[in-house]
Amino acid sequence: MKKKNNSGFLSILFSAIFISILFLFFSPVLISQTQSLKESLQKWAIHDPNRPLPPVVTPGPPLLPVPPPSDAVVLFDGKNLFNWVDSKGQPARWKVEGDYMEVVPGTGNVQTKMGFGSCQLHIEWATPYPPKGSGQDRGNSGVFLMGLYEVQVLDSYENKTYADGMAGAIYGQYPPLVNACRRPGEWQTYDIIFHAPKFDSEGKLLKPARMTVLQNGILIQDNVELTGPTAHKARPPYKAHASKLPLMLQDHNHPVRFRNIWLRELE
Ligand code: MG
Repeated sequence: MKKKNNSGFLSILFSAIFISILFLFFSPVLISQTQSLKESLQKWAIHDPNRPLPPVVTPGPPLLPVPPPSDAVVLFDGKNLFNWVDSKGQPARWKVEGDYMEVVPGTGNVQTKMGFGSCQLHIEWATPYPPKGSGQDRGNSGVFLMGLYEVQVLDSYENKTYADGMAGAIYGQYPPLVNACRRPGEWQTYDIIFHAPKFDSEGKLLKPARMTVLQNGILIQDNVELTGPTAHKARPPYKAHASKLPLMLQDHNHPVRFRNIWLRELE
């Protein structure tokens, strides 16, 4: 009996030592990762054409679409735009065809009627085929969490642009870790884990927004800390906002398609 107690105590002791060693080993790695991300923001000017482009990784064969789990809020199932409005709150005027919605250039951004904060978002998108234009003028759209924080949608398949504006970039802040793009016209996925920023009652920032993004199942943003809302040629600071705001998709004058959009709210 006594012997048994001793071995229990020893195993707890060894576990504690093991966990401490793991922590000691990994915490400097985590801290240095965060530091290097911040340094990269200081090192490169916004949309800097000299910022290195991430390497190309070819995703595995598509297994699409990814059906929503039981606790998901289905925002678009291919049938209609009942859950979407334009920026003035009027019915969204994008085209619904087959199982997708398509940007109708000039009709403006569309956004969900409901607001969301922290969430896991699944969205599938395809840029036009045949491709047209180059750089930012090719298959441009965007997924804006809370209408403010953009994950860039762009045809970045053999199409060069500034690193912090390519597909999968947190626009103007972080290039994707790799270029995981499929060819234009092919369906691609984003799985986004978004943690909304937190503000106190006076509007002071308590916690910045964070994002993790997988494109076609490949990690392209690893829990990055956003500097504030995304913008063109600017990194504006945070401004206090509601804890839930609509998800927005961008009309950038290109007929980009979206389908199978669902999210799970997180707290
Ligand atoms: Mg865009």
